Amino acid sequence: NKYVTIKHHIHGLPSSLDFESRSATLTLMIPPGSEDVIVKNLFVSIDPYQINRMKVCSSSQKTVDFARRLHPGHRIDAFGAGRVVASGNAEFKKDELVVGVLGWEEYTVVRPGSMLRKIDSNMDFPLSYHLGILGPSGLTAYAGFYDVCKPKEGEKVFVSAACGSVGHLVGQFGKQSGCYVVGCAGSKKKVELLKEKLGFDDAFNYKEETDLKSALKRYRYFPDGIDIYFDNVGAEVQEAAVANMNAFGRVAVCGVISQYTDAGKQAAPNMLDIIYKRITIRGFLAYDHLSIYDDFVSATSDHIRHGRIQSLEDVSHGLESVPSAFAGLFRGDNVGKKLVQLAAD
Ligand code: NDP
Repeated sequence: NKYVTIKHHIHGLPSSLDFESRSATLTLMIPPGSEDVIVKNLFVSIDPYQINRMKVCSSSQKTVDFARRLHPGHRIDAFGAGRVVASGNAEFKKDELVVGVLGWEEYTVVRPGSMLRKIDSNMDFPLSYHLGILGPSGLTAYAGFYDVCKPKEGEKVFVSAACGSVGHLVGQFGKQSGCYVVGCAGSKKKVELLKEKLGFDDAFNYKEETDLKSALKRYRYFPDGIDIYFDNVGAEVQEAAVANMNAFGRVAVCGVISQYTDAGKQAAPNMLDIIYKRITIRGFLAYDHLSIYDDFVSATSDHIRHGRIQSLEDVSHGLESVPSAFAGLFRGDNVGKKLVQLAAD
């Protein structure tokens, strides 16, 4: 069973040279009495948070907030979708399609109690959707936007990393809710896509702005200020958004990717703005919103079927492409949900 692991703990920006492939023996058979399920991985998800598990850490910390730390040689668990090849668990049968916590590897042995779910065979969406728009990224966008930001029609919404997996969905949910939506992203191509394909009201390339605070100011993208900021990046973008927020504005802190590879990039929004404008800044994890999972899947499937929301996916092929796909997240290479397809079937 081939798998991808880190060669050493990572400091700063990751590169594909920080990773290597290894092999371990695996018999595709379940021993008598075991309730394990063996899954052949077809798609694996490539997510920025994994870097926080791979970093150099001076303490003897075993976990990174909610996930186990990774060490050289360890297999890397990750969300994925695949096909059951052997099962000792009555709930899962051979050949069924499943999604859950699998790994950056060809096959994963899923122990009882691990997160694994059968794909509803009545849903005729591509398998990859269950990792993106109808999976964790979609739930993150939906929960963060509706549960945390509580949007009202006509409100002004700003989203960063807007052409990424979570961001492009947040903006489209915003448009479905009758909001004015502006996104920022790191290239001209992404900016055009947001405006021309995904229906954002406006978009800009944050890398071209020398003064983000002024770029967001009233006479530019937000003439009437910002009511909601969905933060995927942190640092100066968050500071600029807070400086331009309206009274009772809400900031959903989904992720701070600029800080993941540079600890010096912590956002320091002006506290006086937060007090006088009564701004709420709230971090959240999609996991805490599983109670709305069924509503999310039903509403989002409906949007997809009626062509109201589009899914952007960026798929690389083969286990050997996992390291560069991952490193690419931190260079802004991906357009939409980054996935690696390991096998066709
Ligand atoms: P994306 O698909 O958005 O990929 C990451 C994108 O971030 C890149 O394409 C790049 O786009 C942008 N980026 C990379 N480095 C920087 C930087 N230094 N400064 C600004 N932008 C940068 O990833 P996801 O949609 O999967 O995740 C988005 C965020 O949400 C991440 O911070 C992630 O950790 C977080 N997250 C949080 C969850 C939760 O439960 N709270 C769940 C899932 C994700 P660009 O070209 O625009 O620079």
